[in-house]
Amino acid sequence: MNTEEAWVLDVAVQTPAHAGLGDLLSYAHTADLPAGTLVRVPLGRREVLGVVWGSRAAEGGQALLDGSLADADGVLLRPVSAALDALPPLDAHWRALVAFAARYYQRGLGELALAALPPQLRELDSTQLARRLKRRDRKAQLAAASEDGAARAPACEAALAPSPEQSAVLAALEAERTQGQAPRPALLFGSTGSGKTEVYLQAVARCLAADPAAQALVMVPEINLTPQLEARFRTRFAALGEGAVVALHSGMTNPQRLQSWLAALTGQARIVLGTRMAVFAPLPGLRLIVVDEEHDPSYKQQEGARYSARDLAIWRGQRQGAQVLLGSATPSLESWHHSRPAEGEAPAGRYLRLHMPSRIGAGELPRVRLVDMQQQPPKTLISAGLLEAMTQRIARGEQCMVFLNRRGYAPVLACTDCDWKSECPHCSAFRVFHKIDRTLRCHHCGFTERVPRACPTCGNPDIAPVGRGTERLEEQLAALFADIRRPDGGAVRIARIDADSTRHEGALEAQLAQVHSGEVDVLVGTQMIAKGHDFRRITLVAAVNPDSALFSSDFRAPERLFGLLMQSAGRAGRDSAWLAAQGSRAEMWIQSFHPQHPLFEALRGHDYPRFAAQQLKEREAAAMPPFAFQALVRADARTQEAAQAFLNAAGDAAEGLPGADEVMRYPAVPLAVQRVANVERAQMLLESGSRAALQRLLAAWQPVLQELRRGPAGQGLIRWLVDVDPQSI
Ligand code: ADP
Ligand code: ZN
Ligand code: ZN
Repeated sequence: MNTEEAWVLDVAVQTPAHAGLGDLLSYAHTADLPAGTLVRVPLGRREVLGVVWGSRAAEGGQALLDGSLADADGVLLRPVSAALDALPPLDAHWRALVAFAARYYQRGLGELALAALPPQLRELDSTQLARRLKRRDRKAQLAAASEDGAARAPACEAALAPSPEQSAVLAALEAERTQGQAPRPALLFGSTGSGKTEVYLQAVARCLAADPAAQALVMVPEINLTPQLEARFRTRFAALGEGAVVALHSGMTNPQRLQSWLAALTGQARIVLGTRMAVFAPLPGLRLIVVDEEHDPSYKQQEGARYSARDLAIWRGQRQGAQVLLGSATPSLESWHHSRPAEGEAPAGRYLRLHMPSRIGAGELPRVRLVDMQQQPPKTLISAGLLEAMTQRIARGEQCMVFLNRRGYAPVLACTDCDWKSECPHCSAFRVFHKIDRTLRCHHCGFTERVPRACPTCGNPDIAPVGRGTERLEEQLAALFADIRRPDGGAVRIARIDADSTRHEGALEAQLAQVHSGEVDVLVGTQMIAKGHDFRRITLVAAVNPDSALFSSDFRAPERLFGLLMQSAGRAGRDSAWLAAQGSRAEMWIQSFHPQHPLFEALRGHDYPRFAAQQLKEREAAAMPPFAFQALVRADARTQEAAQAFLNAAGDAAEGLPGADEVMRYPAVPLAVQRVANVERAQMLLESGSRAALQRLLAAWQPVLQELRRGPAGQGLIRWLVDVDPQSI
């Protein structure tokens, strides 16, 4: 080749985190390739996938026979191995999103870009990809042809006639979309059972009808928990043809994920339904993003690039001109604050707030009953009143749900003679007793052993469970209801749903089906059962021990508890017509040692705005989010001293950096669970009233931290990372 035909391509590749390589690597190629093209390039001795980010004609360099290029300064550029140009390039919107996320969350551009691509892309060459694309096309054509030929009506669920509140919300969304300027993000604050899903379905339908190339992204916190939702989207939009609705989440196989991703990229998929990772789907026609349960903590990725998919959805929507619809019965305080109405001098927030207070079918929200556990005999599990209420419901053929956010049989096993407890040898935490398989399992590192026959320290055979998890609750409820009968004379049937009972594929679906079909009288479980499910026969929900979150050191704990309890309450009494026919009213029972706590007072009135106002007042007074911005720098090391020493040295080194004078740096402290898998963990909190200042400091700090890690301050350090806008402190 000669120099006239030589091009230098800047390619994003996945380099090891903090490897000190620049964000982009340069390669030689015989042709120009548009930005966004996928390529395979050599990196060290391997060949890796990369994304072209920019290109320029090579000037004054010298092309070598093997395709490498020596540039004007004599630096050798290796050639691109292959261009995957059977695929359309990833567009500028996608690249902007990835670049923003990398910058904002302090990660490598290549790391983020590659993490956003389906893993299987790494294995296929251009011909194989071209074949896969063709296969998709053919499928779509066949489907279209058979529809024309037979003029068959596709199995398609009709839209429900919207309630007045749903109509008003849909009209407001449409007005916002068509007012000529970029639509503001909208927060749909709708009670549980107010019909938010129907709003999503119809908003998506309207947006797709307006433009044949339009695409919609619908995000949910955990798709496995809501198989119902996916089914509803598929049947509702069956008329769009096969492949028009695709899913994107980590429970899929690599080939499935690639198929969905290709469909999104080529525009064949009109609707992408996915979890947080779907925010990075290539969607050239994106017009609408729905974020269901927008307050859910699982939108925040907890490893690698710790991004918030909700926040990125808002950023992406605004950049790409797509409408963003956040939905929740208990919005995050951030979104609530950003959607505040104008008040006196203070201007309104930048989001639009929409409200659906009523339940569909004029159903009432459950009555909240607080049980003061101080007034109960010591060691009461289920208060007499709650037991009586559950018994009556079971006798009427209604279902009850008992919620406890701790799985396993008991959180600790202890010797009754000496002070032995089931500590994990690798973590600063107790191992949980699982009675089903008689194991002690560490929920932090996974270390599992058979339960010892006797105390390992003193040999006492009498070792006993302390406290209670869902397994034990299930067992104790079975004992309490042993003499109670169902309407058909049979014994009370109790089922448990938590991460342990649903480990096997299909187990959750099977268990949920049992609840829906009425085979279960009492459902016991963790937060898995509190979220989203449209149970029709549950009329009583009980939280038996929610107190610990009231006094957590994490300032977001009350917000999470309130959301969880409201969600749980939302599972009761969802079929108002049936409830009325039963002559029954739904109830939410809460057992607490602090029934006067303002959180419960607000809950009693189903009054999220009141709760939010309380919390926001406290947050504002203490200058905490959303009135301030935070980041955590975390260090993992062999010893706690080493972890803290690194952070404190990093803190000192931040002095004088851009933004530092506007960012408060707290001293390094151990994490709540300080040691996991023999690694000591510490963190340092940064806080600022200015997001820009915090970002400036983090950007300037990054190279300093990398330098420190290589010096004496990095002794014994295993890794460090930055968490921007952390969800838990
Ligand atoms: P949310 O997500 O707000 O908790 P859902 O979307 O699950 O509420 O709706 C609650 C129930 O009301 C569902 O069974 C749904 O099918 C039903 N529903 C929603 N909208 C309508 C409507 N317009 N007409 C009749 N039923 C509706
Ligand atoms: Zn002992
Ligand atoms: Zn452990």
